[in-house]
Amino acid sequence: MKTALVNVFRATFGRAPEFISRAPGRIEFIGNHTDYNGGTVLGAAIDRGVWVALAKRDDGQRRWVSDQREGVVTLSAEGVARQSGVQSWVNYPLGVLAAMPTFGLRVPVGFDYLAMSDLPTGAGLSSSAALELASGLAFLAATQQRPSRETLVSVGKHAENHFVGVPCGILDQGVSGFGRKNHLVYIDCRGPRFSTVPLPDGAHFWIFNTHTKHALVDGLYAARHSECMAAAKTLGVGLLVEATPVTVRAAENTLAPAVFKRARHVVEEIARVEQASAALRAGDRAAVGKLLTASHRSSQSLFENSTAELDFLVDTLVGMPAVFGSRLTGGGFGGAVMALTSGDFGDAQAKAVSDAYEKRYGARPDVLHAQTGDGAALVTV
Ligand code: ADP
Ligand code: MG
Repeated sequence: MKTALVNVFRATFGRAPEFISRAPGRIEFIGNHTDYNGGTVLGAAIDRGVWVALAKRDDGQRRWVSDQREGVVTLSAEGVARQSGVQSWVNYPLGVLAAMPTFGLRVPVGFDYLAMSDLPTGAGLSSSAALELASGLAFLAATQQRPSRETLVSVGKHAENHFVGVPCGILDQGVSGFGRKNHLVYIDCRGPRFSTVPLPDGAHFWIFNTHTKHALVDGLYAARHSECMAAAKTLGVGLLVEATPVTVRAAENTLAPAVFKRARHVVEEIARVEQASAALRAGDRAAVGKLLTASHRSSQSLFENSTAELDFLVDTLVGMPAVFGSRLTGGGFGGAVMALTSGDFGDAQAKAVSDAYEKRYGARPDVLHAQTGDGAALVTV
């Protein structure tokens, strides 16, 4: 990818880039809707990501190009307004530039910018966070600043929350920033604090993206969020992370039935994240897999953010010999399912899953076999 990036940069801008960076996409491994409840979550940075090449300009112009989008977007350094239509992808790096001063960071003025990617966009792999972090690293290199990794992650999240306007939690940027090959990233969302947990040998990720999306997904997220906050209030805690499976069950009669189910999912899911971390450290892939499937069953019956399509994929996958476990990954109400498998799961098995899905739903899911990869980093030019 680096050679292609340099070649395209030269062909587009007529000179070599001065700075190159790369940031990976991510998978939500376990910890569904735990983030805004102050809980914990495990994610995996994958071996696909977004690359950014940059060279400074003296005339204050900013020229933006992506291999995923047509044309060159030219803006002056004063042009930091939100873009719309075909130029709206620039809002991600523009949002990073807008966020940097909030964190006491200087921004580069003029530059030529190229993004290239081998990460599908809008597939629940968080290409948006990868784009933000790769951009942030290039802007920091161009201004000779080296803030902490935590700051880079916060800048990316701030850009997405406040400039792009997507209320994502810390998972996307945190995993892209702190990813490590053959490891998962463990995030305690209350710090937030980041660490890594080793992934046992012979553990593979397969992603099946249904490209389905519930028409009311934004409203459903908001409803789940308020149900969780309502549960915390009744339980007398700030956030559900301060409750436990025992205290939630004890309060069953004081909580509305739906609110009780949401709360039970959250506190039990947080417990599963801890159990999964321990099982990963012990190298027990089968135990990890059982927790993944239990997470899905909880999303299905308690948090009620699964769909028939996602359930069908999980049911199909968990019946296969090389699959340790499977669950919906991401916000739910459509989207993708992940499976943790042994090396015996291959293209033939993936095809069998897609065939079964097509027979039932008349469309094929996108299939991705991902390895873990390292987090966001500058690359030697
Ligand atoms: P996800 O983060 O799950 O991939 P999002 O909707 O959050 O989905 O972000 C996808 C958006 O991010 C794209 O529509 C595009 O605007 C932007 N994006 C991601 N990667 C690139 C890229 N390489 N080039 C241009 N835009 C990108
Ligand atoms: Mg995103």
